[in-house]
Amino acid sequence: MNNLLNESIQQITEQLKHWRRDFHHFAESSWFEFRTATIVADELHRLGYSLQLGKDVIKADARMGLPSEQALHEQEQRAIQQGALKAWLPHFSGGFTGIVATLETGKPGPTLAFRVDMDALALNEAQTPEHRPYVEGFSSCNAHMMHACGHDGHTAIGLGLAHVLKQHECQLTGKIKLIFQPAEEGAQGAKPMVAAGVVDDVDCFIAIHIGLGNSPGGLVCGKDNFLATTKFDVIYRGVATHAGAKPEEGKNALLAAAQAALGLYAIPRHSGGSSRINVGVLQAGSDRNVIPAHALMKVETRGETNEINAFVYQQALNIIEGAAKMQGVEYELIPMGSAQNSQPSPVWVDFIYQQAGQHVPELLSVVKRHKLSSVSDDATYFMERVKANGGYATFLVFGSELSAGNHNERFDFDENVMATAVKTLAVIALQLPDFKVD
Ligand SMILES: [Zn+2]
Ligand SMILES: [Zn+2]
Repeated sequence: MNNLLNESIQQITEQLKHWRRDFHHFAESSWFEFRTATIVADELHRLGYSLQLGKDVIKADARMGLPSEQALHEQEQRAIQQGALKAWLPHFSGGFTGIVATLETGKPGPTLAFRVDMDALALNEAQTPEHRPYVEGFSSCNAHMMHACGHDGHTAIGLGLAHVLKQHECQLTGKIKLIFQPAEEGAQGAKPMVAAGVVDDVDCFIAIHIGLGNSPGGLVCGKDNFLATTKFDVIYRGVATHAGAKPEEGKNALLAAAQAALGLYAIPRHSGGSSRINVGVLQAGSDRNVIPAHALMKVETRGETNEINAFVYQQALNIIEGAAKMQGVEYELIPMGSAQNSQPSPVWVDFIYQQAGQHVPELLSVVKRHKLSSVSDDATYFMERVKANGGYATFLVFGSELSAGNHNERFDFDENVMATAVKTLAVIALQLPDFKVD
């Protein structure tokens, strides 16, 4: 297997870099991945995968954090100007930027699914001489959108894997599904794909990430410290009045939000494990001499378990409501995203550990499970669904040298990690008949 596979990986290595840099340059944030999705769909179609697109893989009313219709329309126009492939665009129009590509080998065997994500962050990319993407001319051309989490690399890895698996099709068994997910940042895109039944037939599931504090050349076969998280916006609505003439008739939304923000940070710790709270945005008021009638807060809670996150969230609701009552204002809470905690399946982790150690010498270290930086990823929705149906799931992290941490405006990674990732995932697919469960 190894010589042939190495040849395929070598053939694809330059192309991986080309895709990655193209997606990086035309970075598209959550639900705006129009250009990216059309290119992915076109490539997979030409390779001969059967495709399910847009509404077939994303349940409309399970989407969270969806931008306004106007913003979606504007971004679609932007994508067209930047080379989105028009023939595919209608499938993704309106914020349905998900793709599932299936390879039926015609031989009996389990269904194996890989998930990669495609979205950028709402961040302006560094334009400085130390930042390689800027120096080499592939930094983001879209304001306030930047691939600062490596999802450009994930998308390239997904396409590279599609190529390599197709080349080795006759050695594969069962069914292979490649899931290209939108809107992972903010934990919005996985839940509607799960709701559409995308992994209902999946026996073995793998989601991937690069970086996340894992050392260069390292592979963690089962990240096991995902934080459950709930993301939401709070809008306070009060009454604007003249701050000098009639302050007593005003209802102060700014004060409600400020009091809520302070109260949120005073939520007790939990003896069962770690928790987080963050108010990332607080915007309020309209002018100096007006009692502020409007305030917006963007909040997230996190917990080491679903229960701890639920505890923090419930406390947060009480505080938000209490702050509204204190000022006599109305409030509205809008869910924006969520992810669960999930543990990888031990036997599946063992299998991947064994195969990667044996067949991928490029990996400098392979560990089974490891507590990497405390992040959330909504891939856990896929994992939990697969496990609930009796399947096996895990989340792999490929280490890479990083120029700055994930979510920093100077983030960049060592592009060699992509070839290593494609090879590792291909090895797992090719060796799958050896995965025996008692
Ligand atoms: Zn991220
Ligand atoms: Zn990420």
